Amino acid sequence: MALDRVAVITGSAQGLGKGIAEKLCGQGYKVVISDINEEVLNETLEEFKGKDYEVSALVADVTKQEEHESLVRHAVEKYGKLDVYINNAGVEGEVEQIEKINSKNVDFVFDVNVKGVLYGIQAAAKQLKKQGQGGTIINASSIAGHEGFDFLATYSASKFAVRGLTQVASKELAKDKITVNAYCPGIAATGMWDRLDEKFMDVLGTKKGEALEQFASTISLGRTQEPQDVANLVAFLASEDASYITGQAILTDGGIVYR
Ligand code: NAD
Repeated sequence: MALDRVAVITGSAQGLGKGIAEKLCGQGYKVVISDINEEVLNETLEEFKGKDYEVSALVADVTKQEEHESLVRHAVEKYGKLDVYINNAGVEGEVEQIEKINSKNVDFVFDVNVKGVLYGIQAAAKQLKKQGQGGTIINASSIAGHEGFDFLATYSASKFAVRGLTQVASKELAKDKITVNAYCPGIAATGMWDRLDEKFMDVLGTKKGEALEQFASTISLGRTQEPQDVANLVAFLASEDASYITGQAILTDGGIVYR
């Protein structure tokens, strides 16, 4: 099914970003997948090409402003324009008591989760304004962007910051018909949660798998999240049906955080 829409997704070699990419490809979008992990990115590219998706890939590090510009340039050169820019890449950083947090960890998490989103908004806004037809920017926040979670101070602060950036960008870009929203996943068993589960072992004294199990037991709908669950929300936010929604940070968590 041909659809004249072009999307760029950061951190999309695996996990939730890959799920979002697959959903949009399936809807007929032309998609640029991107990641810092070249090997997994190439594997995903091959997998998607095998499914006849209209897709291309570019290695990019979201902490580098110029690499967002390269991503936008790549989309325009390849597909003629940009419609949707999804700032998905994120890192969890340390799991640690607040008084022991290390400043290098703060820099690492904020460089990816906050500056990475800001630079993506900037590069996308520049191109969308130039095109003059509006467009949409969608950012990854989290349940931890609505409520602070124990031992995740830096991560929570970074995801609250994404909501701040989303609101400001949505106000400033509204006159150009550019909408800016955030998605706030709950607990998905991606690589991020594999690492979180291990990191929680030290602070909670849990065994392998136990921290994930404890967190998962708080989900009203009784199951952890699949990438598809997140992709369904993001695909809606990317669609024309969401054109009157802007500045929002929408939870998709099966019922953990109630707002
Ligand atoms: P993941 O770790 O499974 O995948 C993240 C991808 O981002 C990886 O492929 C990684 O290589 C890439 N990446 C990391 N640093 C990068 C950088 N500097 N530049 C480009 N790419 C980079 O994580 P995920 O679970 O798929 O999470 C995706 C997003 O959703 C993140 O922003 C995360 O904070 C958010 N989120 C995830 C969960 C969850 O339960 N998994 C919950 C809430 C929010």
